[in-house]
Amino acid sequence: MGSMPLRCGTEVIPMSDAIYQFKVGNFDCAAVIDGNFVYEPPMFPAPPHFLFVNAPEDRLIPALTKHGLAFDEWEGWTTPYTCLLVSAGGKRVLIDTGAGALGPRTGALVKNLGSLGVDPGAIDLVILTHAHPDHLGGNTAADGSVVFPKADWAMSKVEWDFWMGGQAEAVLPEHSKEILLGYARRNLGPIGDRVELVDGEKELLPGIKILPAPGHTPGHSAVAISSAREELLCLSDLVLHPLHLEEPEWFAGVDMLPDQLISSRRTLLGTAAQEQSLVMLFHFPFPGLGRVRPRAEGWQWEPQS
Ligand SMILES: [Zn+2]
Repeated sequence: MGSMPLRCGTEVIPMSDAIYQFKVGNFDCAAVIDGNFVYEPPMFPAPPHFLFVNAPEDRLIPALTKHGLAFDEWEGWTTPYTCLLVSAGGKRVLIDTGAGALGPRTGALVKNLGSLGVDPGAIDLVILTHAHPDHLGGNTAADGSVVFPKADWAMSKVEWDFWMGGQAEAVLPEHSKEILLGYARRNLGPIGDRVELVDGEKELLPGIKILPAPGHTPGHSAVAISSAREELLCLSDLVLHPLHLEEPEWFAGVDMLPDQLISSRRTLLGTAAQEQSLVMLFHFPFPGLGRVRPRAEGWQWEPQS
C-alpha cells in the first residue's frame, strides 16, 4: 500500500513524486510516473485475495503483518504506474506508456516527460513489456492517434499474437474480457505498421535488450539495460508486491500462467541477485528501484534509497 498520496492527472505533483533521475553506466535514466490506481472491491477482490490467490491463509496472515498489512482490514491496493525513460547513444527509449485515461489519476506520463524537456516527438523507441491496460494505454490518445509520432515500437511476438489473434478472446474471463481486449486492440492496432515483433531475446539498441519473462501474460517481457558494466533489469510485472519476492510461488489473480511465472521469477531474480543488478518493478512504491538479496526460498527487496 502506498502511504504517500500521489496526486496526478490534472493536479500539480511535486517533481520528486513523479520523476526520479538516475544513471546506469553512461545512460541517463528516469523513472516517470503515469499516475496511480487503487485496486479494490467491487471491481477487484480485496488485496490479499487479489494479489495472493494461492497463498494459504495461515502463512499469508503473518506474512502480511510483517509488512504492516492487516489481512482483514487491507481494503485497497494503491499502486503507482511507473514507466522508464532511457537516453542511450543519442536515442530516447521509453519502456511502457502507462494507462492513459484508465483511472481518475492516470495518464500523466506525457506531462511528466514534458517537465524533463522531452516531448512525445522526441521518443525514438517504445518497448512494451506486455499488453495490459496500465502498460500500453498511453500509446494512443482519445481520438485514436498515436501519442509518440516518430517512435518505433518493439514487443514480444508471442504477446502481440495472443492479443491480436484469437487466443485472448478464447481464454480471458468474461468479466474482464471487454476492457482488456478493448485496451489492447485500441492501443496495438494503430502501431501495427511500426512495431517490431521479437521472437525470444534481442538487443534492440546497443545496451538495450528485450528478453522473455512469460507468465504474468503469455509474452510478458523484461528489458535489460547495460552500460559500462552496470545493469538495470526492468522486470515490469514479474513481481507485483514485495511479498512475491519472499514467496515466489504466490501469485495474483491477474497472473495468467502461474507455472511459467514462477519459473521466470526463479531465472530472472536469481540472475539479478547473483549479479547484484539494479531492478525496476512497475508496481512497487515509486520509483520502484532496488536490489534483490537471497532470503530463505526467495528474495528480499532492498529499495534504493
Ligand atoms: Zn501492470
